[in-house]
Amino acid sequence: MLAVPNPLSSKVIEPTLVSLIEGLTPTFREQLSKHADEDRRPKFPRDDRGFQTELKRRVSTFMHETGRRERDCWQMYLKTAIIIAWYAASYLLLVFVVQHWWEALLATVSLACALAAVGFNIQHDAGHGAYSNRPWINKLAAFGLDLMGASSYLWHWKHVVFHHTYVNVAGVDTDIELGGIVRLTPTQRLRAVHHWQHLYLFPLYGIMAVRWHLWGDFKEVATGRLGPHPIPRPKGWDLFLFIAGKAVSIGIVIVLPLVLSGHPWWIVGIYYFIMTAVIGVILSIVFQLAHCVEEADFPMPTDETLRMEASWAVHQVQTTVDFSRKSRLLAWYLGGLNFQIEHHLFPRICHINYPAISGIVEKTCREYGVKYSVHTTFLAGLRSHYRWLWRMGNPARSSVKPGAIPANACSNHALARD
Ligand SMILES: [Zn+2]
Repeated sequence: MLAVPNPLSSKVIEPTLVSLIEGLTPTFREQLSKHADEDRRPKFPRDDRGFQTELKRRVSTFMHETGRRERDCWQMYLKTAIIIAWYAASYLLLVFVVQHWWEALLATVSLACALAAVGFNIQHDAGHGAYSNRPWINKLAAFGLDLMGASSYLWHWKHVVFHHTYVNVAGVDTDIELGGIVRLTPTQRLRAVHHWQHLYLFPLYGIMAVRWHLWGDFKEVATGRLGPHPIPRPKGWDLFLFIAGKAVSIGIVIVLPLVLSGHPWWIVGIYYFIMTAVIGVILSIVFQLAHCVEEADFPMPTDETLRMEASWAVHQVQTTVDFSRKSRLLAWYLGGLNFQIEHHLFPRICHINYPAISGIVEKTCREYGVKYSVHTTFLAGLRSHYRWLWRMGNPARSSVKPGAIPANACSNHALARD
C-alpha cells in the first residue's frame, strides 16, 4: 500500500547518474531525488490477520450506533472559541495591562499555554483533516500553526508523512532524528555526550519553538530537505502562506509588543524567549511521552528488502503509548494526545471521540495479541521518558546494548503501567 512503484531504482540513480543530474533542471532533480527517497523507505506487509479491518468495522459501528460524528463536532467549534478567547485575553493582558514583572511572567506563561492548546487541538486535528469534512475549514484551522510561528506546510511532511507512517523507525521518522547530540533509539550511533542526555535534553526542548520560528523552517524550505528526506519546496499558494505565516507571527509576538507597549527591545526579547521556551517544552514532552518511552518499540526493516515485520496498524500500536486516560482535564487540553494509539490508528477522526473508542481499541488489541501500552498518569509517562533517555545514553549500564533491540521490542501483550 505504501510502496510507491518506481521505475528508477536508487541503486541505478545514485552511482551512475550523479554527474548527469548536476546538469538537469532543479524540478527534475527534485523528482529524481524524491523517487530515490521513496525507494529507501520501509514497506509494511499486508494485514493478513484482519486486525485493522476488524478494528475499523467495530469503531465505525460504534460511531454509527451512538450517533457520534467523526468530524464537524460541535464540541470542537466551542473548544476553538474558548482557546482563541484564552489566547486573545493573555495577549492583550501582556501587551496593554500588566505592570509588574511577575504579572508579565504569568501572562506570558498563559499565552504560551494557549498557543500550545491551539497546536494540540485546532491545528493538529485540522492538519490531519479531522476537524471538518470541508477542506477549506481544515486548511484555515491548520494555518493556526503558522500563526504560532511554525510552518503548517513543513509540519504536513514532518508529522503526517514521515512520523505517522513510519513511527519510531530510525532514519525515516523525523520526530526521532534530533541531531547527533540526542540518541532516542537503540539503533542510533552512541556518542560520549549521550551519557548526559537525560539532563540536557529537557532544556534543549525549550529552544525547539524558537528554532522553528526564526531559523529552522527557513533552512528546510531553502534546502528542500527534512533531515534525510528531500521534500518539494512550497510553491504558489503554499509559499505565500509560509511567508505570510512567518510575517504575521513575528509581527504579533515581537513587532507589535515593541511598538505598542513602549518597553525596550531587550524586555520584549526576554518574554519572547520565555514564551517560546514554555511552548517548546510542553509540545516536546507531550509528543515524546507517546513514543520515546520504555514501553514503545523501535522496530527496523530488514536490510535487503526494507520490509517491516508487522503490518502498518500493528506497528502503530506497538510503537505508541497512551497516558492519563482517565484525566478529563488533560484529554481536553492535549486535544486527545494522551490517546495517541487511537490517534495513530484513526488520525482522521476528531480527537473528541478518542476517550470513547479507546475501550474498543484496547479490547481488539487484546483479542489479536497486539501489545497495548498505557501509563496511568502523566508523571508515570514522564518518568519512563527520563529512564529511556538514560538507557539510550548509558547502554552499558542498562539492559540495552548499543544496536540491540530492546527487550520489549517483540512482546505481544497488553500492558498497563503506573
Ligand atoms: Zn498526528
